Amino acid sequence: MTTLGFIGLGIMGGPMSGHLAAAGHTVRGYDVHPEAIAKLTAAGGIAATGIADAAADADVVITMLPNHPQVEDVVLGPDGVLAAARPGTLLVDMSTIRPETSVEVASAAAEKGIRVLDAPVSGGQAGAEQAALSIMVGGEEADFAAARPLLEAVGRTIVHVGPHGAGQVVKAANQLVVGGIYGLVAEAIVLMEASGVDAKTGLDVLAGGLAANRILELKRESMVAREFRPGFRIDLHHKDMGIALAAARQADVSLPLTGLVAQLVAAGRSMGYGDLDHSALLKVTEGLSGR
Ligand code: NAD
Repeated sequence: MTTLGFIGLGIMGGPMSGHLAAAGHTVRGYDVHPEAIAKLTAAGGIAATGIADAAADADVVITMLPNHPQVEDVVLGPDGVLAAARPGTLLVDMSTIRPETSVEVASAAAEKGIRVLDAPVSGGQAGAEQAALSIMVGGEEADFAAARPLLEAVGRTIVHVGPHGAGQVVKAANQLVVGGIYGLVAEAIVLMEASGVDAKTGLDVLAGGLAANRILELKRESMVAREFRPGFRIDLHHKDMGIALAAARQADVSLPLTGLVAQLVAAGRSMGYGDLDHSALLKVTEGLSGR
């Protein structure tokens, strides 16, 4: 069994750290919100008093934080993971952040003898709660092999996709596809409702044909019912579309649909839906037609 530090116990990190504790690992968890730590202790984890307390005695430190500034603070900061952890510790950053920060973190960690993987996830809150996440991992093959048994406690599809930062590139690709599908499902609902067709019945048919996908499968009922409790907040998807567009620029490629989806998500944020689930792209699409 492994001694783990887990930092960032939110919508995703909360259930993920709980699964690791339930699997018998020693999990010392920390979050800036004490109520998030209380949930982990109720699930069998241990409350850490801060980042250093979570990282100091850990064999593996997992971070699940909103974005790159938080990862930089928590990992590189004066009281951060690199300052506290022992050489040989493995840091697995499961946050979705820009690839270049993953590369920078890995290089700063290497100077202290700390190994790093970028291991962002897909599958949403339900995937985290059911330990069924897809995990795309960048970094050294040997470190991936070492982390794999732990990742199996939270995920089902666990793939080493390349060197440091590659996990984040694959996650950016995932997010542009997910955003595009939400946008198109929203357009399908608006079209059917405006034409006097029952959208739920229509989507049931779509879910059985070539248009079938996980979003139709899992979210069609809540979308038609206008239930937009997160889940995955529009604000976070806005961050991810920025990462995807920056990665496209870095790779010198043109992704026109990604640009369009990014603008749709940005509109959701400007319209005040940032804290709603990203399925609220339906509200943005309705707004475009004055509905
Ligand atoms: P969240 O906001 O619910 O959780 C983040 C947690 O980090 C919060 O509890 C916050 O208090 C904590 N935190 C922030 N700064 C901190 C600090 N300096 N020290 C300690 N704790 C700190 O977000 P989430 O939905 O769990 O997402 C986490 C990451 O996973 C994001 O990068 C997101 O893009 C990604 N992700 C989310 C989903 C989803 O469906 N929610 C799916 C896949 C990937």
